[in-house]
Amino acid sequence: MIKIEADLHVHSMFSGHAYSTIDELAEEANNKGLKMIALTDHGPALPGGTHFNYFNNLKVLPEKIKGVRILRGIEANILNDGSLDLAERYFRDLNFVACGIHMNTGYTNTSVREHTRATINAIKNPLVDMVTHPINLSNMIDLEEIVQAAKEYDVILEINASSHKKIERSRGDKKLSRKLIKLALKNDNLLALNSDAHYRNLVGDLSNLEPVVGDGLITNDNIINSSMDRVLEFLEKKNKVNLSN
Ligand SMILES: [Zn+2]
Ligand SMILES: [Zn+2]
Repeated sequence: MIKIEADLHVHSMFSGHAYSTIDELAEEANNKGLKMIALTDHGPALPGGTHFNYFNNLKVLPEKIKGVRILRGIEANILNDGSLDLAERYFRDLNFVACGIHMNTGYTNTSVREHTRATINAIKNPLVDMVTHPINLSNMIDLEEIVQAAKEYDVILEINASSHKKIERSRGDKKLSRKLIKLALKNDNLLALNSDAHYRNLVGDLSNLEPVVGDGLITNDNIINSSMDRVLEFLEKKNKVNLSN
């Protein structure tokens, strides 16, 4: 199975519907041998969660907590026109910007065409580093178009472990995730496998992806977050981190 050094998608209790503190997430990551987590709490459009000042003040966090490098991130909500739910000035001190489509955020698009257009507009935003759960049965997008745009604008596409958990109404789909991976491999896209943990025990847990990629469809070399150094190089190129510090 794939082994990651960096989980680029975890939620703390500041998301409003996740249940661990930042210290607990970092401790769990350290226990599991991860070197890095991206703290990607939901943007403010999702009810009960963050507000702009949470992101504005993330700079008070140390670079490492419990021995684990912390990326000051966000999972911003993609809005109908592809814009994000936080004013641009609040992204200044963040070093990892993920974004995805979520319900109950004012998002009302309904067609594949509209979901695809909104996602591509988000990909074109130079602030954006990764699209979360591009496979979502509630908001289907055109995968061929998405891999092209993500390649052109140097944006990571995520394969999301939480989406594949074995519950009713799961938003994941094994066939579609495999299709996306195959297209991305052919097109030389950046891919990441992430937990999308909403509780500490799920940090770094990719076991739900075993049925999707366990047959060797991808190797560690195919995903950017199998290496913390690769993630840091990617972010340095985008001026999100400074490795000479
Ligand atoms: Zn999400
Ligand atoms: Zn998430």
